[in-house]
Amino acid sequence: MKDAVIIGGGLAGLAAAWRLRHWDTVVLESGDRVGGRIRSERRGDYWLNWGGHVFAGAGSSTDALLNEVGVMAVQIPGSLQGLSMNGKFIKQGHIATYPFRIPMSLAARVDTMRAGLKVVSGVAKYTGVVRKRTGESGAMRQQRIYDFENNTSFQDFVGNLSEDAAALFKTTVTRSAGDMDQISAGAGIGYFSLVLSFGQGLSRGIVGGPSTLTESIAAALGGDRIELGAAVHEVVHKKDSVVVRYRQDGVDREVEARTVVLATTADVSHNVGVDLPEDLRGALSQIKYGPHVSTAFLTNETTAKPWDDIYAIAAPKRSFAIALNQASIVRGTESVRKPGGSFMTFSPASLGKALLEKPEEEVIKTHLTDLDQVLGHGFADSVVEAKVDRWKNASPYCFPGRAKIQSTLMRGADRVFLAGDYLGTLYTESSITTGFSAAQEAASVLATHRQAPPQSLSIVA
Ligand SMILES: Cc1cc2nc3c(=O)[nH]c(=O)nc-3n(C[C@H](O)[C@H](O)[C@H](O)COP(=O)(O)OP(=O)(O)OC[C@H]3O[C@@H](n4cnc5c(N)ncnc54)[C@H](O)[C@@H]3O)c2cc1C
Repeated sequence: MKDAVIIGGGLAGLAAAWRLRHWDTVVLESGDRVGGRIRSERRGDYWLNWGGHVFAGAGSSTDALLNEVGVMAVQIPGSLQGLSMNGKFIKQGHIATYPFRIPMSLAARVDTMRAGLKVVSGVAKYTGVVRKRTGESGAMRQQRIYDFENNTSFQDFVGNLSEDAAALFKTTVTRSAGDMDQISAGAGIGYFSLVLSFGQGLSRGIVGGPSTLTESIAAALGGDRIELGAAVHEVVHKKDSVVVRYRQDGVDREVEARTVVLATTADVSHNVGVDLPEDLRGALSQIKYGPHVSTAFLTNETTAKPWDDIYAIAAPKRSFAIALNQASIVRGTESVRKPGGSFMTFSPASLGKALLEKPEEEVIKTHLTDLDQVLGHGFADSVVEAKVDRWKNASPYCFPGRAKIQSTLMRGADRVFLAGDYLGTLYTESSITTGFSAAQEAASVLATHRQAPPQSLSIVA
């Protein structure tokens, strides 16, 4: 019997496995690699990236994990505020100034300012909501964040907007993977808060690419602690243990454990957790995800480029919402500009849905045509490699009414502890935080079990 089986080898599962590494554990991962929605591949000094790319900073769970594993992350040196729209390229500056700097009609400018004022005042309130309060638990704070403006959609909050104004807002908030009419007003405001806070949110990059973290955890755990190609289909409680049934290499297998960390997306956790409490299964089935389609480009330019000091370029009215200069970290450490570079583009929500089923060449062509127009300077001619990844469930988004199910999701179940980004509002940071919490709960059960006196002695006592 194992001490703990961890189901899912994404960040949440790996964070849990890392914290449980002194127990007898195994990670069951259905894919052929660890990392889940973290996926990067090295190419010399650079890396291609298709998944999560910016991470939480000092004092976060992410920071703790990086330090414990010995993987370095740095504040991203390039500007996070680039924008290309209507033929104008803005490198940096406060995004509140954008309506004055982008060419657009007077009506669109007025619309943008009107809705912008609402959002800025919402961000001010949100800042108070997310502030940590003395003595409260992380769960209480998370509930408060979900509760914030959770009755209406972001679309209803900003009202009807002209095309250019809508495009500006859409580019930012749809990166949550939900469209403006799908996400709650609070979630949209929260996303703006991440952008407006200039480095307070997700603004660190992992040196060598995000998979450096997930692969390093897997290497430290060792091959016998991670089973790839192991697709779990059932998790069932017994009296003092849990049975996990999975299929690997065409063979049905099962493993019994004292505890289980279920670190798959909510839909999978709902399907495999067949005897989880009904209200919990019901809550899992209500989690909503939106898609992303991302393309990674490797380039071979030999001279400095105007985008060398920019990391993120928002691109309203394009096939992708944002282009991310993955080479920014390399640029920040070199004294002489190395040849080459790496970009990532991604299409979230309805932009992603439009590309989800398209052939790889078509997605590359669509993204590259737009990226070339955004960057100019012969970008397309410098591309030496391009690859696409599609994420049907790219990120869970907070929809109107989402707050109501949070307390049920946090209740957990006996010996099965849930982890994953759908339990919080900060993506990779939520995955790692919930992975740590699930590991802590499992360790507590295991440690208590180990120290419990034999039944007969406790009766005598
Ligand atoms: C394009 C893109 C950009 C993003 N950008 C950012 C960003 O910049 N910052 C940020 O913080 N977040 C970002 N995110 C979100 C972030 O990547 C996720 O929040 C995070 O990686 C989720 O980790 P997880 O462990 O919770 O889930 P996952 O990574 O989905 O892990 C779940 C694992 O379970 C496995 N699995 C599924 N079914 C089974 C089964 N039946 N049996 C066994 N295993 C199973 C899966 O293969 C997977 O490995 C982005 C996501 C995408 C797609």
